[in-house]
Amino acid sequence: MRDIVHHSGQHGWLVDREAAAATMAWIQRAPAAWQADLEGMADYFPHWALVGAADGAPVRCGLCAERAFAAPMDGALRCLACRQPAAATGLAWVGQLPILARPETRFQRRRESLREAGFGEAAAPGLDYLLVPLTVLYPAEWPNVEPAVRYSRRWLQLMGLPSASAAHHLVGAGQACIFAWGQWRAMSIAAVLQQRMVNHLASLCKIVAGQPPGQAFIGRIH
Ligand SMILES: [Zn+2]
Repeated sequence: MRDIVHHSGQHGWLVDREAAAATMAWIQRAPAAWQADLEGMADYFPHWALVGAADGAPVRCGLCAERAFAAPMDGALRCLACRQPAAATGLAWVGQLPILARPETRFQRRRESLREAGFGEAAAPGLDYLLVPLTVLYPAEWPNVEPAVRYSRRWLQLMGLPSASAAHHLVGAGQACIFAWGQWRAMSIAAVLQQRMVNHLASLCKIVAGQPPGQAFIGRIH
């Protein structure tokens, strides 16, 4: 497999498979899944990074003021700022998914709150995109069990959305319900984001713009 380099701000680092495998056993057991995920993310989501996780969230460094994420590099999970080793019990992908800003006033008001809170945006000629932070947590049994994809609680709050609601297809802790019971078939993390999360996020944005949840999600999933 080709070498994969991840980036955060100015920093770039080579993803260390052995260091990642010391955290999650599936990497030794399912090398094809590892390769598909690393290469798929590098191809379609190059600004995302693989980082250490514990208790359902990415681990932050406790040894420096940056409190940066820790990524598998140079033989260990290391803080992206100070490079000191950090402890983790799992792995997660962290990054942002772009979604077109909607024109409705209700949506624009929420967009303003996100901006004030420091959430990012990106612009192409005539098009404005919100950059929506997400975390994708690997289950121990990957790729036989689906990953947990979570919105940031703060993002949900500012959008006026709950973090748990069946109508919003949110199962708690801001986790998106993107597969019906028994529907999971092994696929890459990049495919989960492209085939499921883009639609889930678009549906949430419709709700923020004023559509009832039942209509916003109809025909999308389940
Ligand atoms: Zn640090």
